[in-house]
This record gives sequence, structure tokens and C-alpha cells, in this order.
Amino acid sequence: MFRPGALFVCLLPVCAGAVETMRIAMGAAGSEVAVSGKALAFGTDSEEAAFVAVAAGRAVVKRENGRLTLNGNPVVGDALRFRAGAFAAGARAEPIRVAERQVRGDVVVRLSQGALQLVDVLPLEEYLVGVLGSEMPRTFPAEALKAQAIAARTYALHKKLEAYGQPFHLGSTVLNQVYGGLAAEDPRTREAVEATRGLVLTYELAPIEAYFHAACGGHTESGLEALGRDLPYLATVDCPCGKEPASRWTLSLDAAELKSALGAARPEALGVLSRTATGRARRVRIAADRTLDAVTFREKLGYTRVKSLSFDVERGGGPGRVTLVGRGFGHGAGLCQWGAKAMAESGWDYRRILLHYYPGTELQALY
Ligand SMILES: [Zn+2]
Repeated sequence: MFRPGALFVCLLPVCAGAVETMRIAMGAAGSEVAVSGKALAFGTDSEEAAFVAVAAGRAVVKRENGRLTLNGNPVVGDALRFRAGAFAAGARAEPIRVAERQVRGDVVVRLSQGALQLVDVLPLEEYLVGVLGSEMPRTFPAEALKAQAIAARTYALHKKLEAYGQPFHLGSTVLNQVYGGLAAEDPRTREAVEATRGLVLTYELAPIEAYFHAACGGHTESGLEALGRDLPYLATVDCPCGKEPASRWTLSLDAAELKSALGAARPEALGVLSRTATGRARRVRIAADRTLDAVTFREKLGYTRVKSLSFDVERGGGPGRVTLVGRGFGHGAGLCQWGAKAMAESGWDYRRILLHYYPGTELQALY
């Protein structure tokens, strides 16, 4: 549920200086997980928790008989929060290693539906440094990275308001934003985040749903067509990415592949029945008597194979085969990353790039 009131409060100067934190779900960990870090300490899952040192800087948390144990000792409650560096000289926060990953901030291990769930709790700005390196090539121009940083910050804040009071705000996979932890950090992404610190895109004072994608192929898609989100700032705009060779793709499919992904589909029947105003497939015929909406068609064959809905179906390439010839990568709504790259290379700054892809929005400093 959306809470415009909550943001309005936060946009007032009284919130200036407050650290905005994010809670990022890192997935389930079965019934046992090891947490380690320099000067590791644990406490309850709250911002005001009193932390207690963990011996040897290593904790094994298990789920035993529906309760949590820490290094073999039962603990009260259904969540534990870990912080590294809490008792180190100078008390500087240190990274935590958990489930093969190294992350910043605190790590919460909680009981959830019979398993252990991991949540990383970290300042929004630190989260963005880890997101940016996973979402956009670090070699992209600085103004494109800054535009992406603002879009990712705005998206995260919107999700946080939407998930108000929930155990976590966002996951860490492509279904949300890809958070890569320390492994995804880079001086260039850190610089883009720091240069735009606290800047968010708003529409009528609320942070927008700042969707983004890799390449639109020449025209972005409306929020309604791409994602079922009929929002004024997710309108179709022209984009220079269509000239980039990287935005072209083909996919050859045979009868067996179509059958395993779509059931009764036949190559000879495959065709696009209707298209959106930008030419993307809306409804696809998969057999003489069967059709599918194009979003489901893409989902079932795989988002990385059918890279976008902007495709034509071509015959040839052998009996029983069809080829999809497409443009772009992703759902096509909001910021186009390859387009932002092209604009930055032709001298556009991040403000101009963002206001192109999210028309009618404003840039505001949240802190
Ligand atoms: Zn584009």
C-alpha cells in the first residue's frame, strides 16, 4: 500500500540528516547459517538494539525445534541481528560474511515459514553502490551512471514505502534490483552514488515508480503496456539506443523447445496477433486454436532468450523452426540504459536524461 503522507513527512527539513536504511532479503538459508566478521556482535532486530560480542567473531545460527539457537544456545525471539566492527577499536562498521556473500550493514537471521531467512539492513546509499555495479556496466559514462543511481534510489524508496512495516523492503534478484554486495562495488559506481546523494525523482511529491531496463530498441513502452502500471511519467518516448548493435537479437526455436515451454505450441502456427502502439507484441498465436498474451509468452520461454516483446516471427532456418528477430532488452518502460549511455556520450547530463525518460517528474533532494 502506498503512503504519500509518509514521504511528505520525510521531505520536510526536519528529516534532514537522518540515515535512510533499506532491508534487503537475501533469500532462505535452510536450517543453518554461519555469520562471521571482525568484532562480530549480536542483538535483537531493532535500530536501538544493544549488541553483545560473539566469541571468536563467528556465529552459527540454527533452527532447532522451531526455535533459534546461536552457537548451540537457545535465544529469545524469532530474529537475531548481527553487526561487525561494533566493538573494534574506533567502532567502525565492517563487512559481514554470510552464506558465501560479503555485505555491508547489519545481517538479520529470522525464522520465517519453517526456514531461516536472511535480511541485510544497510544505509540506502551503501545499498545503491552495490546495486549500481550489478545493474549497469561500470564502464558506462559518468552521467549515465548518475541517472541510473537516481532511478535505483527512487525505486528503492518507493518499494520501502510500499513495504512499510514488513520484515524486508526488497529482494536482491532481477525481480527487484540486483544487489551484489561488496563484490559489485567499484570506485565509478561509488562516485555516481555520492555525486547524486539523496536525489530522488518525484511526481506530486511522492517518489515515482522508477522502472528501468537495458535497451528499448528505439521507443520506450508505456507503463500500462509493459507492466500494467498506468502512470503519467511512464509514457512512450523516443530513444537513441535503436542505433546500437547491442540492442538487436535473434532466437531460433524448434518444435521440441516450443512444446516444453508452452505445451501445445507449433512452430508453423507461431505469429504475433496484435501489437501495442510502439510495435511490441501484445498477443501471440502459438497453435491453430491457441493464443497467449505476449508477456506470458516471454516469461515462459525465458526473459533472457526472448529479450523483449519488440520482435517479428520469421520462417526459414530449416523445417519445423522459426526465428524471432527482435530489438531491445527488457520490458521497455522508464529509463533505457543503452539510451542513457548514448545521450551521455552526446553531452547530456543526468538531469536531462532522467527528465527525458520520466516526463513530468521533478528531481528533489531528500537529504
Ligand atoms: Zn532505448
